[in-house]
Amino acid sequence: MPGTELFGAEERKEIEDVLSTGIMFRYNHDALRNNFWKAKDFEAEAKKITQAKYALAVSNGSAAILAALAASGIGAGDEVICPPFTYIATIEAILFLGGLPVFAEIDETLCLSAEGIKKAIGPKTKAVCLVHMCGGNANMDEIMAVVKQHNLILVEDAGQAFASSYKGTYTGLFGKAGAYSFDFFKIATAGEGGIMVTNDEPTYKLADSFCDHGHDHVGDKRGMENHPIIGFNFRISELHAAVGAAQTRKVPTIREINRHHKSFLQSKLAKTEGISFAKLGDENGDSATFLNMLLPSTEIAQRVVDEFNKAGIAGFDYWFKNMYHFINQWDHIKNMKTASKLAVQVLGAPQDYNNLQLPKTQEVIGRLISFGIKCNWTDAYMTEMAEKMSACVQKAMSPVNA
Ligand SMILES: *Cc1c(COP(=O)(O)O)cnc(C)c1O
Repeated sequence: MPGTELFGAEERKEIEDVLSTGIMFRYNHDALRNNFWKAKDFEAEAKKITQAKYALAVSNGSAAILAALAASGIGAGDEVICPPFTYIATIEAILFLGGLPVFAEIDETLCLSAEGIKKAIGPKTKAVCLVHMCGGNANMDEIMAVVKQHNLILVEDAGQAFASSYKGTYTGLFGKAGAYSFDFFKIATAGEGGIMVTNDEPTYKLADSFCDHGHDHVGDKRGMENHPIIGFNFRISELHAAVGAAQTRKVPTIREINRHHKSFLQSKLAKTEGISFAKLGDENGDSATFLNMLLPSTEIAQRVVDEFNKAGIAGFDYWFKNMYHFINQWDHIKNMKTASKLAVQVLGAPQDYNNLQLPKTQEVIGRLISFGIKCNWTDAYMTEMAEKMSACVQKAMSPVNA
């Protein structure tokens, strides 16, 4: 969680600007705000990094993906291809808009594969919601070919992949709209915050209204603004945006440190039999927030997890058992346990969520152990950590009492 590690004077200064005027609302109040526009600053910083034409700061990453889907025209009854390995927010956003999730296979990039998408396409498929997992990037050339061939709408959940790119284009900007999260666990944090990006003006305008009760944000009399569409409140506060702006300015530095730490650890670990790493669509575009180890089998990976725990090694995720990131534990989705009726319950699910056949995904996630990279690690600490990790993997590879 590098952003949280670097919380300091810059963030405090930005917050104090807002506190000095008390204008915590992102719109209007021009005469009172001493020209502090923190949400706009946050958006400008995100645009600087991603080269997006339009950026909309919102209350969180989940709202950003909801807005990206809605502004891309995804709604009731639309079938959306999505991954079974993602933070649950992706699936929730599709469901709450009335969409019908269709789960497809991922590959060693930890993202949907072009082949997986192709196999999941049916006559009613409207869109693909691609998720760039663990700081990386999907195989975009292959995926874009399938998306274009089948005339699908592409929306990207780059919640964990801010500042990650593929052949020079930033994640989130390959399709109609994309979303980043700035929650407490991401490369940079606003406390709570998200950003939706697009290069398409009408899509941006729809999202802008969608996230603020339909307001068109024209003029200076809020109560007299037009409301082109029905929206809701996903606004970010100026206090959160202030932190988000300060943190986003640090991202190029964080990314550089992350990349150094990741390649340092990988070069040490690669010598150990049994350790390989998740793939990237573009190695050079990695935001490097995670070191993603692949073990030879699920069984060995589970033994490695046990050895890590015995050795007191912390700071890793074994996603295969995670309640929020992997479909095996999503029994609330499989059994449609909802507070109130969703469209999918009225229209019927396009797949039997209790009997999905996703062997490739099961195999890849079963073998995956991820470490969140920290920017305050030293080379000495990482050397020691790599030695401990290697010893654990060696034990797991040849258990004495097997
Ligand atoms: C973190 C995350 C989200 C949700 O972001 P919040 O800001 O926590 O709402 C959505 N999708 C992915 C892939 C994420 O990692």
